[in-house]
Amino acid sequence: MEKNKLKVVITDCDHGFIDEEKEAFERLGAELVLAQVKEEDDLIRICKDADGLINQYTRLTRRVLQNLPKCKVISRYGVGLDPVDLRAATDLGIIVANVPDYCIQEVADQTLSMILALIRKTVFFDQKVKSGQWDFRQGRPIHQIKGKTLGLVGCGRIGLEVAKRILSFGVSVMAFDPYIQKVRKGVRLTDLDTVLKKSDFICIHCPLNESTHHLIGEKEFQKMEKKPLLINTSRGPIIDEKALIQALVEGRISGAGLDVLEKEPPDPQHPLLKMENVILSPHVGFYSEESIHELKRRAAQIVSTVLSGKWPKSVVNPEVKGTARAFISKPSTN
Ligand code: NAD
Repeated sequence: MEKNKLKVVITDCDHGFIDEEKEAFERLGAELVLAQVKEEDDLIRICKDADGLINQYTRLTRRVLQNLPKCKVISRYGVGLDPVDLRAATDLGIIVANVPDYCIQEVADQTLSMILALIRKTVFFDQKVKSGQWDFRQGRPIHQIKGKTLGLVGCGRIGLEVAKRILSFGVSVMAFDPYIQKVRKGVRLTDLDTVLKKSDFICIHCPLNESTHHLIGEKEFQKMEKKPLLINTSRGPIIDEKALIQALVEGRISGAGLDVLEKEPPDPQHPLLKMENVILSPHVGFYSEESIHELKRRAAQIVSTVLSGKWPKSVVNPEVKGTARAFISKPSTN
């Protein structure tokens, strides 16, 4: 590599193409490396002279970040920040930014599709009909959607889009979100216990962090009085999967729609894979052809903005401003 040429590493990426990124860094005259690594030592080896990183799922721990002396910016492919040790990045003067609103419609649609498929037993009937069984009674009971109550856990961008859609079905919406005071018309803010007790459908839309890890566990399943459907299109570890399986076995909940799991992909013997009232998708909520191109373009833009000496959009650790490596003047060589 040419001395002083900027280097950007994509730590991991399962999109199958990096055209947007190539275009952005060619324009900047930077070298682009697609690493596809998970292990800390591999990351350190490949990224130690990188000026910027784009990251999907590979964990960027404090130890990794401490070994990347040139890294000025980390851009996340997506909304969630769980793979990055944010505190470490801030301590080290690394700007972290995400792409917060590129797939709101897609995740809300995914959530709705799961609610509707579970209520109308779409997947169940599809399997029956294809195996030669034509009998609607096999799916009994099916209840009307109108008049039911949906409880949101987290009422940010995606939660609100879900609310907007389901309100048009004649469903009441309540939400637990400790960080907001006001919400759109038609949504009632309440506490978590009320959401657990009174909901027919519970949808998880909060981020994964230390306080939301296993937010829904055994104690919370015990409080679910209406045998709700549980939908998670946020992050797997927000639900304690052992407790979820137990709740399904005991009939405390009627079913689950999961786009995300504690371990992705799941082991082939995972009990959830064998349950008729559980529908699964492979963490696809973010994806449409439109959203993925936008995601890649914007994730690359964040890195090239910082490496061009400008402050990017959607920085998630703004407190780094005074100490950001990208902006502190370099020591004089005289
Ligand atoms: P957002 O930041 O707009 O909304 C999150 C909301 O959760 C905020 O209003 C926040 O106050 C609330 N919250 C935080 N902690 C909470 C807690 N302990 N209990 C209840 N609410 C809490 O984010 P968003 O754009 O709506 O995305 C939500 C999540 O969806 C992301 O964090 C990400 O993990 C997930 N996501 C998944 C996919 C996918 O492909 N399945 C795609 C995009 C996003």
